[in-house]
Amino acid sequence: MSDKYDVVVIGAGPAGYVAAIKAAQLGLSTACVEQWLDDKGKVRLGGTCLNVGCIPSKALLDSSHKYHEAKAELDVHGIAVGDTTIDVPAMLGRKDKIVNQLTGGIDGLFKHNGVTAISGSGKVLAGANVEVTDKDGNVQIVEAGKVIIAAGSVPVEIPPAPVDDEYIVDSTGALEFRQVPERLGVIGAGVIGLELGSVWSRLGAEVVMLEALDEFLPMMDQQIARESGKIFKKQGLDIRLGARVTGTEIKDGKVVVSYSSTDGEHSETFDKLIVAVGRRPRSGELFSSDSGITLDERGYIFVNDFCETEAPNVYAIGDVVRGPMLAHKGSEEGVMVAERIHGKPAQMNYDCIPSVIYTHPEVAAVGKTEQELKAEGVPYKSGTFPFAASGRALAANDSDGLVKMLSHEETDRVLGCHIVGPSAADLVQQVVIAMEFGSSTEDLALTVFAHPTLSEAVHEAALAVDGQAIHIA
Ligand code: FAD
Repeated sequence: MSDKYDVVVIGAGPAGYVAAIKAAQLGLSTACVEQWLDDKGKVRLGGTCLNVGCIPSKALLDSSHKYHEAKAELDVHGIAVGDTTIDVPAMLGRKDKIVNQLTGGIDGLFKHNGVTAISGSGKVLAGANVEVTDKDGNVQIVEAGKVIIAAGSVPVEIPPAPVDDEYIVDSTGALEFRQVPERLGVIGAGVIGLELGSVWSRLGAEVVMLEALDEFLPMMDQQIARESGKIFKKQGLDIRLGARVTGTEIKDGKVVVSYSSTDGEHSETFDKLIVAVGRRPRSGELFSSDSGITLDERGYIFVNDFCETEAPNVYAIGDVVRGPMLAHKGSEEGVMVAERIHGKPAQMNYDCIPSVIYTHPEVAAVGKTEQELKAEGVPYKSGTFPFAASGRALAANDSDGLVKMLSHEETDRVLGCHIVGPSAADLVQQVVIAMEFGSSTEDLALTVFAHPTLSEAVHEAALAVDGQAIHIA
């Protein structure tokens, strides 16, 4: 006999678990199939984000930032802390505790909302039913009114640097070093590479980042990318652009990396090497060939703007479909799909998704970059404000970076905001709200901002768009 639900979600990451909770809250009988198991063989919820992504990386970023502050930045406040040391296993233990607390929290939310967690690997069959295979190979068919696929993504591997989990690791392995590597190589100077490189650099590793592209952070506004690059260089990250890794060799307990760049062939020796060259959708073996589901040319499950696949009654959300691979993007798609299944004409504004690099200072963005506006021929105006002119940033001894606001030349509508600076993630959210409400730059300029706050830099950048900034000459 098979079980039957209104909605069956495959995958319990931030896209899937949010979709499942929302569907259950709307009164739909809901199950969530998850294949991840903990050490005791029990189903583990939370996906990449909670287990090996957003949360553990931020726990280590926060710990390493505090260590670095104590070691190198408190003296300016007149605070002497003496010998500062780092207990790496204790730091990892704190990270694991937070991860366990949060993944256990999803268990609690499932129970509270009446979502049934099913342990096993899910596969969509024709007719939108789901075949679930558990860890012992037992197979059951779960009948679903609607299926939501939220199977996420996995790290991309590259042939010249195969992950061995000892010397060469992916982002998951980079969260588990038991001691600080003396020399750390990172392949890829994107979001994940920069965050993980920063963690170990702050703890004392000499970090060399090898990036194949000639441009640094090409998806970011290039003015902000240049400024961020300068700040990271000052912090000691050795970022080499146009460096294509051609091979690796394990020799005498070290990893030797060969790479080529315009000035020839090079090699570097590291204690550890992180491969952080991106992630790919986990779309293999997820559906039968007669299910009607299709992939796009890049291997993502093909969906329309409402996350409907080509198969009737089957949706897909999160990293497994097009769009930025971000937890909050997947979660909002989950809410939209659950509401649409329930009959509400929900939709998602893909133009207003913030993205953040959680380095220190943070780099955050929403909307169009200046280079995109130029390429699209949109008439725009821009304003910037440096944190060096912010009283609050100076008081905090945290005044690197700037806020950049981009608005439509004719309508004054805010089109984008790009920040590198203290608390950039939280600051950019103010502009996300403004953009979601269709705000003009003048609306922001006429808003009262508390003094002294970092938010004043957003206000001043909005004022600067029309040459009205007060605190900059
Ligand atoms: P996932 O979180 O990958 O979850 C998919 C789930 O589906 C997994 O639990 C998997 O086991 C399960 N699954 C897969 N196939 C099956 C199957 N056939 N049957 C049953 N279960 C299956 N994003 C941010 O927004 N902010 C950040 O700060 C951030 N930091 C990151 C740091 C790191 C180091 C990494 C690696 C990623 C980070 N991300 C961050 C990205 C973020 O983790 C992903 O965008 C997010 O987890 C995607 O959510 P998802 O639900 O689509 O997929």
